[in-house]
Amino acid sequence: MLERIRIVLIGTSHPGNIGGVARAMHNMGLADLALVAPRCEVITQDSISRASGADHLLHQASVHASLEEAVADCTLAVGASARSRTLPWPMLSPRELADRLPAECQAAESRVALVFGREDSGLTNAELQRCHAHVHIPTNADFSSLNLAAAVQVLAYECRMAWLSQSDGQADAPPTVPSDDDDLATHAELERYFEHLERTLIGIDFHDPDQPRQLMAKLRRLYLRARPERMEMNILRGILSATEKAANTKPPKP
Ligand code: SAH
Repeated sequence: MLERIRIVLIGTSHPGNIGGVARAMHNMGLADLALVAPRCEVITQDSISRASGADHLLHQASVHASLEEAVADCTLAVGASARSRTLPWPMLSPRELADRLPAECQAAESRVALVFGREDSGLTNAELQRCHAHVHIPTNADFSSLNLAAAVQVLAYECRMAWLSQSDGQADAPPTVPSDDDDLATHAELERYFEHLERTLIGIDFHDPDQPRQLMAKLRRLYLRARPERMEMNILRGILSATEKAANTKPPKP
């Protein structure tokens, strides 16, 4: 299970924090570190010293230009956020997230991404809207923002606790998730669908990109909540293609 969990850091600006994250991950048995557009060097004296012996995670970290690229193969992406945002999104506590992980990680091709934001400004709304759910570490409401490596530590600890209780209870482990879940759509497949959906909605004059009214964000929230399977995505894309075709063949409105 721990091998299927990826820690994704977006736009990190302090090498020491990346080192601290590597240490927190290795302490808890996580190894998959992905960096999206880091705003600092990754391998420095500071990051190596803060990693305290976990610097192999820094050397093997993958670096990506965008969040989409870093989570393309993931079947669940959860954004860690210190603040609540304008458009409410499914929220999990760290423990609720951890409770879901054993089932989420059961299928051979499943991958879970835990996404963390910039030290100065966190995650953007667009980045948060690319996640199935958000996780908030309960804190003092007047002082809610943890240091990046500390936030990773808390969630990595919850992942480890879930993994430990899963291995303890192996003898009477719950039945495996239905086989359909083996085929959840990946992040990249969902993104392709959202692009197609937006194009079609513009084409049929349902959506005006100059007056978006959060339509795409609301539709994203709906589809991400439903956790579609690959086969269901194919049906939905087929419907979009048929809609586009019908719209092009319909006579123009009088
Ligand atoms: N100043 C930023 C917070 C940056 S802290 C802001 O106001 O959004 C860096 C990252 O650590 C955040 O983007 C988030 O991913 C994580 N983090 C910090 N505190 C958190 C909390 N209480 N719950 C969940 N994630 C948190």
